[in-house]
Amino acid sequence: MSTLKQVLGVYEPGSQHWVGDGFPVRNLFPSNGVADAVNPFLMFDYAGPTAFAPSDQPRGVEEHPHRGFETVTIAYQGTVDHRDSSGNAGSIGPGDVQWMTAASGVVHEEKHGKAFTEAGGTFEMVQLWVNLPAAHKMSPPRYQGIVSADIPVVSLGEGASARVIAGTLQGAQGPARTVTPVGLFDLRLKAGSKGRIEIPEGHNASIALLQGDVLLNGASALKGEAKIATLSRDGDAVEFEALADSTLLVMSGEPINEPVASYGPFVMNTQEEIRQAIADYRSGRMGHLH
Ligand code: MN
Repeated sequence: MSTLKQVLGVYEPGSQHWVGDGFPVRNLFPSNGVADAVNPFLMFDYAGPTAFAPSDQPRGVEEHPHRGFETVTIAYQGTVDHRDSSGNAGSIGPGDVQWMTAASGVVHEEKHGKAFTEAGGTFEMVQLWVNLPAAHKMSPPRYQGIVSADIPVVSLGEGASARVIAGTLQGAQGPARTVTPVGLFDLRLKAGSKGRIEIPEGHNASIALLQGDVLLNGASALKGEAKIATLSRDGDAVEFEALADSTLLVMSGEPINEPVASYGPFVMNTQEEIRQAIADYRSGRMGHLH
């Protein structure tokens, strides 16, 4: 017998800031203090939508390190170019996803794409951080550039569809390879559509609203822009009803029950591992961009 996951809370962005000069973000977590509810996800930044004037100098973030987790970038409008110390590079545009497993460490830069920079336009992106279990924090880095055409689309009812980026929804398997069980679904709902989303029992889950107006389980309202609802681990589905055209990102995952020690771009299990990460970065052991 199916039971619904309960809505635990609905939150506004807990902070707003610029990441480099290319990403004006509204942060949904960790700024809201919901770490237990969103575990294994660590961070959610929603960049834009923001209009950028034409420029000849790509905006973004200069080279910086990561260790101990994955960065997942989902493009809605505009393009992002990535280049890292493992020799991986890629460009993602609307509908594409970059799933970078930093693991033992990479140094990378994230910049607006050249053509987008020169033409200008509206930029809209999400960056999520996904934790890795201790046993995989020092694995070799990996890069998955996932193009929109490889992301299956399933119907959730009339006027409601989901792009399955990771995990399984209605029998469709997302293309992203994940280290622990993770679901990531990009939902597009037309006003008036209703249905349900199956999310595994025992998985933490949360639903971010980029824009729109949606009722969850007939009651809890996600309305406007940049909101997030956290859901209970118990239950295996959530019901939605769109009151306006809406774009949502559904995240779910098996919680990683290990200590978290984090410092900026490093997320490890102990302070000693953080000190090591800082030392390794400073001494060049995470590599450099060429
Ligand atoms: Mn980065």
